[in-house]
Amino acid sequence: MTDLVIHNARVMTCDPSRSGLGIVDRGAIAIDAGVVSWVGPNDQRPHADREIDARGRLVTPGLVDCHTHAIFAGDRANEFGMRAEGRTYLEIAKAGGGINATLGPTRAASDDELIALMNARLDLALAGGTTTIEIKSGYDLTVDGELRLLRCIQRASAMRNQRLVPTLLAHLIPPERRDSRDAFVAEIHEQLIPKVAAERLATSVDVYCDEGAFTLAETTAILRAAKAAGLAVRGHVGQFKDLGAAPLLAELGALSADHVEQIDDAGIAHLAKAGTVAVMLPGACVQLRLPVPPVGKLRAAGVPMAVASDMNPGSSNCETLGVQMWLATTHFAMTVEETWLGVTRHAARALGLSGVGTLVKGAPGDVVVWNCDEPAHVPYRYGTNLVGAVFIAGVEQSR
Ligand SMILES: [Zn+2]
Repeated sequence: MTDLVIHNARVMTCDPSRSGLGIVDRGAIAIDAGVVSWVGPNDQRPHADREIDARGRLVTPGLVDCHTHAIFAGDRANEFGMRAEGRTYLEIAKAGGGINATLGPTRAASDDELIALMNARLDLALAGGTTTIEIKSGYDLTVDGELRLLRCIQRASAMRNQRLVPTLLAHLIPPERRDSRDAFVAEIHEQLIPKVAAERLATSVDVYCDEGAFTLAETTAILRAAKAAGLAVRGHVGQFKDLGAAPLLAELGALSADHVEQIDDAGIAHLAKAGTVAVMLPGACVQLRLPVPPVGKLRAAGVPMAVASDMNPGSSNCETLGVQMWLATTHFAMTVEETWLGVTRHAARALGLSGVGTLVKGAPGDVVVWNCDEPAHVPYRYGTNLVGAVFIAGVEQSR
């Protein structure tokens, strides 16, 4: 007997072997031992111990948020107000705001405090349908402190059903290391990365390669060390200025290039050739009033696109992918289909996870039952949480 069947559903499979979203109308899905065991027409479904009538509603893979900074303490609502008055990101950073303003509260918080703050954010993400979520370190910026943040993520992971994917982020040169910048970069690639790899505290390394953050040469040194340590690589690139990181990311087989508001045609060609996912972060883009990434050119070149929250205390204090989907479809002019693939299969690809983000035989039984029947309704009715039920590995989650 099958564990769970959800029937009378519009099942969005995101099956890579089918075109578009792979929707099965009047469909059903079966889950056994936490894994999708069958998907097909309603009238051919197996019987199960638990059977749920979806009443014609949309059933999709659990959402995948492939870019967040969910571990931090403190609040930067004051900067939100300054920005509303017209101050720019770089002006706010020079006035003591920005990423540096989060270092003090994060360093001062205990492990338990950091985990409690992160868990509250992850609960909100789950309520919005997010079953897999990437979390970057990056708000301590010392070797021991970054290890501590990653160990906190590891502890939270053991406490939660959500799939947490930890990333080591080289976020910024901290203020106290501005006069020893080269030594700080060396500490990252000579000390921090080997420790992270040895303790399996992250699956990938990310570098913020942009004006005011790491240079291309520094990014190259850090990402080459990550690759040598057996970790996947990704980059925050071209949010403000294109420093030319796309060829490096392509050469290293990077999983993702994130932001890319600024990227030239040659850079796009490099991403396409390497199969690197371009991660769209529309919440941060809108909040910082940046130009829109070249979605049309990325589409034409065949670069897979993901959509993520960039959840962080400065430029995108948002746990909900539904809102990002609205911004992706409206402000970024992504199609509804691209946007859904961006929070499911393509987001999983950006994390190097196979099967996740799809509902095909053998995929994890991570499912959202929505209180609507059309895929477009989720972005179209932005601000309303249309999540009806969430299952992770076939187990219904209380939200
Ligand atoms: Zn980010």
